[in-house]
This record gives sequence, structure tokens and C-alpha cells, in this order.
Amino acid sequence: MSNNKTEDRKRRLVVIGGGFAGLNFLKKLDTRQWEIVLVDRNNFHSFPPLFYQVASSVLDPGSISFPLRREMRRRRMRGARFHLGNVTKIDTDRKCVVTQFESIEYDSLVIAAGTTNNFFSIPDLEKCVYTLKSTAEAIRCRNDILDRLERAALCKDAERRRRLLSFTIVGGGPAGVEVAGALGELKRYILKREYPAISVDDVSVTLVEGTDRLLRTMSEQASREALEYMGHLMVNVKLQKIMKSYDKNVVTFADGEELYSEMVIWTAGVTAVPFDIAGKQPAIGPGGRFIVDEYGRVEGLEDVYALGDIALHQNEQWPRGCPQVAQVAIQQARNLAKNLNSGKFDTPFKYKDKGTMATVGRNRAVVDLKHLHLYGRPAWFTWMFVHLISLLGMRNKLTVLITWAWSYVNYSSSLRLLLHPTRYPLRSRWGEK
Ligand SMILES: Cc1cc2nc3c(=O)[nH]c(=O)nc-3n(C[C@H](O)[C@H](O)[C@H](O)COP(=O)(O)OP(=O)(O)OC[C@H]3O[C@@H](n4cnc5c(N)ncnc54)[C@H](O)[C@@H]3O)c2cc1C
Repeated sequence: MSNNKTEDRKRRLVVIGGGFAGLNFLKKLDTRQWEIVLVDRNNFHSFPPLFYQVASSVLDPGSISFPLRREMRRRRMRGARFHLGNVTKIDTDRKCVVTQFESIEYDSLVIAAGTTNNFFSIPDLEKCVYTLKSTAEAIRCRNDILDRLERAALCKDAERRRRLLSFTIVGGGPAGVEVAGALGELKRYILKREYPAISVDDVSVTLVEGTDRLLRTMSEQASREALEYMGHLMVNVKLQKIMKSYDKNVVTFADGEELYSEMVIWTAGVTAVPFDIAGKQPAIGPGGRFIVDEYGRVEGLEDVYALGDIALHQNEQWPRGCPQVAQVAIQQARNLAKNLNSGKFDTPFKYKDKGTMATVGRNRAVVDLKHLHLYGRPAWFTWMFVHLISLLGMRNKLTVLITWAWSYVNYSSSLRLLLHPTRYPLRSRWGEK
């Protein structure tokens, strides 16, 4: 494709990121008005709320992913093109974005690249902890958990077995609570069926949170219930503990306490996906997010918009910006599409909070709606229903539904497969020249 602009063509709109924001934006945009290029570093859309189910071997990665090219064959998006590429640089003067493969010029740009892990400058943390910000990271986590279980099942030394199976999850938000709950279920229900050589006492699961309660973005009742559920699942919860370092398998907290843990799963912080910005500079707020106005326009730049987790829209109701959740991304995306379709920019964004939820394992979940709080089994079914309808693709919905129903009946997952990456050929990594 030639990336050079010509006089008689439609204006080119480049969208970085085919996640919740990018894809929902394109679904609502009047694509006839634009020449559209969607750039994503993966050729599929993924569903982060269920990454922990991939990490805990409940779901297979394919059932929570959807090929972007297939989505773009839909009538509403016909004509839009997909380009694989990791955008590293945005040149706001030359109006182009740069990936490892090409440079793509734009007339208008929508940045919807989401967030990445934030390790808060803790030395070397990114080299030794497991994270859950992408499907690949979830698969890596799953492989290591399975590898440890298999090695522990063969290990004759009780102390070594306990060390192999020492898991710590840092961050008591929904992602941390969900992973800890899944590991707790593994310990309590699955171990004796599938790994009879391992005793429950060999496995330690510790959930660490810096504040005084779990799920602090939800109601206090939800926090209390989540804590209670953790107790049922034999998860040790440490509140008001700030992790300072992780070295030689020892987690050290700010108060000097130490905890031996061979597998640390980090869910404690995110920061905006970083770009090297050349030319005119945008306004950047806390967490590296692009500051946008009520229409999604990036302050300091022209014809550049930001959506979803990477955008920071501060207003009276949300002085520190809207929460970084899927609903905000979807609603912002639809609002920007509406304004671009009309060309009038007369509909300011207003977030309608539809509620929050988290699950802590089978029959255990908490749901905060505007006038209603649910917990236990009703909350769990609500959680499942909401996630099922939000998944992209009928095949995915059916696969997930069948897998959940099957696991519910017999606690069994057919997916505890340990698939090692192949060693050959010894070529450079994907994307490297
Ligand atoms: C483990 C986990 C659990 C979560 N659970 C929930 C939940 O239960 N409920 C909820 O509402 N929210 C949840 N969230 C948050 C929710 O996933 C985000 O708010 C939402 O995904 C934001 O949408 P987005 O489009 O801004 O970003 P994303 O959905 O992250 O999409 C970003 C897209 O940009 C692409 N991309 C990133 N960088 C580049 C680049 N440099 N070049 C090209 N492409 C790029 C990515 O591949 C991706 O496709 C969870 C998040 C995580 C990580």
C-alpha cells in the first residue's frame, strides 16, 4: 500500500488499537466518510476480563480472542483495512504513526492502545514477576503454574515441593482477586483429583493489597465478602502491605516483613502504553494518559483523539478521570463516532456507570449495581451472563458457555495442557529485522 496522501481521496483515519475502545469506535463510525486503517500489534481482539481464566487453565486462549480481520469483514466496517504492527512513534507534525514495518500517514488519528504494566520503578521487577496484561502473558502464567504442579508432583523433598508451589498475587483489585480465587480453587478442589501426590498444605496462595481492603473501587460490603470468600478458598490475604522489592524469590514489604514466593503474579498497577512523540506535544496526565476534553480530543494536538484506558477525561464527577474499565472505553468510543459522523461535536461524553463486579470462584462473586448489591450464587450467574454477552463472536460465546457448564458440573477442565514453546528454528524474534 502506498502511504502517501493524494488530493482526491477520502481523508485517512488511523486507529491505534483494536481493543474495546478501538473496535467499538469503528463499529459505530460511518466508515463511508473515511479511508480507515486499524493498526494493532496483535491480529486479534482480546478480552482482558477473562485473562485470569486462561492463566488458571479454565478457558483456552482462542475462546476469548477474535480475529480482527474477520470483524472487519462485517458490513459496517467494510472498506476498513487492518495493518499488523506495534506503533512506537507518533509524529504529530508530519502526521504519521510508525510501526516496526512501516510509516502510515493520517489526517485524523484515534489512539486507543490501552495500558501496560506499571512496576513503580521497583528494581528488576519486570524480569521476575508474571503479569496478565495480554493473552501471551496469561499463557505464560498458565504454563508456569502447570510446570510447577508437574514438578512438585514428582518431587520427594517436602520443603522443595512447598517452595515450588508458593504463589503470591500482588494487587487486591478485581484482577488480583480473581486470580487468587482461581488458585484457591485449584488448591481446594482440583489438586486432590488431578495431582494426588500433592497435599493442600504444600500449596500457599497469598494475596497482597496495599490499602486496607480488597476491591477498593467497589462497596465496603463487596470488599468484606471478597475477604470472606478468600478464607473459604484457603487464600492468605495481607492488607496494608506495600511490596518494596522481589529478589532471590523473597518478597520484601515496606515494613520489613519478608515472604518466600517462587511465583509472583503482579496485578498492582498500570500505565498508559508509551509512545515516542515527535513534533507538537500533547497534554499528558497522571499514569501517562493523554488528557482529552469531553469530546475525546487530545489537548495540545489537532485531529488527534484518545479513547479508553489511555485517555484521561477529568470532570466534576470524576476529578481523577473515569475508571479504566471496559464500559468507559465502549461509551467513549460510541460518543466519538457519533460526533465524527455528524461533524458537529455537539455531544459531550458523560459516563453512565452500569455497575461493577468481580468473581472469586465457583458460586462466589460480588456485584454492585446502582440500587442493588448481589453476592454468592446470584452474583456469580450475573457475572457469567454479563461476560458471556460481552464476548465477541457466537463461536466464542458457545465455547465459553459449554466450558463453564462442563467445569461447573464436574470441576474438570480439559485444558491443563502444558505446551512448551518450540526451540527451533533459532531465528530472531517475531518483528525483528
Ligand atoms: C486482567 C484484567 C482484567 C480486567 N477485568 C475487567 C473487568 O472485569 N471489567 C472491566 O470493565 N474491565 C476490566 N479490565 C479493564 C479493561 O480490560 C479495560 O478497561 C479495557 O480493555 C480498555 O479498553 P481499551 O480499548 O482502552 O484497551 P484494550 O482493550 O487494552 O485494547 C488496546 C489494544 O491496543 C493494542 N495495542 C496496544 N499497544 C499498541 C501499540 N503500541 N501498537 C499497536 N497496537 C497496540 C492492543 O493489542 C489492544 O488490542 C481488566 C483488565 C485486565 C488487564
